[in-house]
Amino acid sequence: MNAVASTLDISALRDQFPILATEINGHPLTYLDSAATTQKPDAVIDAISDYYRHDNANVHRAAHTLADRATSAFEGARKKVAAFVGSENEKQLVWTRGTTEAINLVAYAWGGRVLQEGDQILVSTLEHHSNIVPWQLVAARCGAEVVPIRITDAGEIDLEELRRLLKGPARMVAVGHVSNALGTVNPVREIAKLAHEAGALVLFDGAQATAHQVVDVRELGCDFYAFSGHKMYGPTGIGALWGREELLAEMPPWQGGGEMIDEVSFDGSTFQQIPYRFEAGTPDIAGAVGLGAAVDFLNGLDRDAIAAHENDILQYAIERGDDFDGLTRYGCASQVSGAFSFVLNGLPSADVGMLLDQQGIALRTGHHCTQPLMSRFEISGTVRASFALYNTREEVDRLFTGLAKVRTMLS
Ligand code: PLP
Repeated sequence: MNAVASTLDISALRDQFPILATEINGHPLTYLDSAATTQKPDAVIDAISDYYRHDNANVHRAAHTLADRATSAFEGARKKVAAFVGSENEKQLVWTRGTTEAINLVAYAWGGRVLQEGDQILVSTLEHHSNIVPWQLVAARCGAEVVPIRITDAGEIDLEELRRLLKGPARMVAVGHVSNALGTVNPVREIAKLAHEAGALVLFDGAQATAHQVVDVRELGCDFYAFSGHKMYGPTGIGALWGREELLAEMPPWQGGGEMIDEVSFDGSTFQQIPYRFEAGTPDIAGAVGLGAAVDFLNGLDRDAIAAHENDILQYAIERGDDFDGLTRYGCASQVSGAFSFVLNGLPSADVGMLLDQQGIALRTGHHCTQPLMSRFEISGTVRASFALYNTREEVDRLFTGLAKVRTMLS
């Protein structure tokens, strides 16, 4: 184990994730798919179970004790999650099902109101489909255009190209904070500055960032920030949109129903203040509580030491990959986080993944919901190992032992 890991006691941390003790196909589980979803610590599993055992009721409505308890657990979680991303207050934190829904919310509620014929939304070629398709859907309705920002061979956003595009009619620059497919960490502060100088707004897709680095939305200078609970040790089905207060306040609702209204009559309806205006229907209360517990879990750790540990694991994988015959790595940005993406001897990534799975190694293969990026590199997909705080160098060694076997079997 490396020096950073030994001060962190990764082994004790791993013990908090019960699933990591599982055997898969007769082998200890080697979980290298945290960019798809992270595993959950006891603290999160227990918080959800305790909520259902002791506090479950619907929120905001009934005047009874359990409903009060559920409401304070739910709103308490909102406060924690808002503070976790550096929000000034919890009004700016809208619960969503995850990053995808958060981006759709902005596309429909902001874009639907503001975008006009000829306007442009700039997205990078690195983007996950969830930061492309919502914009395409909204653009098609209002005659706007989604324009890709080129990336370099290293997998970095070409800032010269962005500068050039920003001379045109761009209203929004929507880019990932960290790429799920290549691990590229984008220069988000600079992107925000360039966009604002050109009069455009900025949305960052933080799905792959919040687990790995301290995020402060105000310091990043963005207008919107979207993220998912399940990628930061929380449950699936919950995530959030953070938005600048004045922008959220001007945005109309995008879904109608209970909870989001002020008054309803057949003459028309009026709507709640932010954030409730964007939260129609019964929310994922237990999910919010679970995400609050994930934030407590992360806040209880030395985040700098975790980042150093994760970086050590990633750099170790890169080093081993560089020495491994037939392995071509994709994404060689100057700053990378979390993901190690490669093709082995030109073999179909699904075959490699299946043979690794037989050895208990779980990772993701295919296009990673980034088809334009795969087209850019003229490949159909990659094998992606992705890391979280519980991974070890020994697991990276297991990956390469597994890959050596795969290479022999398939050659
Ligand atoms: N953006 C990025 C960069 C992602 O990695 C993902 C999921 O893999 C998403 C968006 C979508 O997240 P979710 O499915 O949680 O909405």
